[in-house]
Amino acid sequence: MFAAIRRWRERRVLETAASPDALWSEAVAALPFLAIYTAAELERLRAKVVLFLDAKSIVGARGHEVTPLQRVVIAIQACVLVLEMDLGHYDGWESVIVYPDEFVPGWEWEDEAGVVHRNEGPLAGEAMPRGPVVLSWPDVEASADWETAGMNLVIHEFAHKFDMRNGEANGCPPLPPDLPPQVWQQTLHAAYDDFCARVDGGEHTAIDPYAAEDPAEFFAVLSEVFFAEPCLLLGEYPDVYAKFAQLYRQDPAARVPAARRGRAGPSMPLSRTGA
Ligand SMILES: [Zn+2]
Repeated sequence: MFAAIRRWRERRVLETAASPDALWSEAVAALPFLAIYTAAELERLRAKVVLFLDAKSIVGARGHEVTPLQRVVIAIQACVLVLEMDLGHYDGWESVIVYPDEFVPGWEWEDEAGVVHRNEGPLAGEAMPRGPVVLSWPDVEASADWETAGMNLVIHEFAHKFDMRNGEANGCPPLPPDLPPQVWQQTLHAAYDDFCARVDGGEHTAIDPYAAEDPAEFFAVLSEVFFAEPCLLLGEYPDVYAKFAQLYRQDPAARVPAARRGRAGPSMPLSRTGA
């Protein structure tokens, strides 16, 4: 019943709203990892973006004015994750807040000893449980091209949002029926332990060592790699790649022309300021 209402509503939105051609082309050109998408995939992505922008508000904070291009650039990267899934995975929250620079979130937490800590460090992005996604626009812009950045802030934060759909961010998002939770956990934990051992051993990893922070960050960072530099994940952790392909219902490495496979982007990811 709800699914039928949603489909009806989505059809109405697609009939009445649209993304102007010039704006769409400019936004796609700003995201080089989309260059290998087929025309049919880009068409589906465009429809998702229209629905996403109808459902969410993208607003500036601290004087930042969000341009139409910025809205579409953010929405495209959010929708890449759910291109072959229901947009309902992003239900339960309203806004994307865009800052003119890194921001200090000001939240507090209590440790096991009852001591209250306050987060002081500036962040480039944050996904709040049941709340907004917060982004620093310069960091969105700097991480739009994997070739130069080795990271993607928007995909990272929306991977957290997807992960939070079934509770706190813990690296275990809602799984499809053909992906048993114990298989997911085993695969991810084995790769996480291996990655942590490599980082702790001082290895210089092509995947951002920030992924070793905790299982939630591992999932978010590897989601960035899966979408923006898929052959890197396929080469380093093929089992994880296969599970991500099942989870996201996509095989991004198959889009990469054979001549480009095996390349791994920049040797040093941009330094991350917590996300
Ligand atoms: Zn994160």
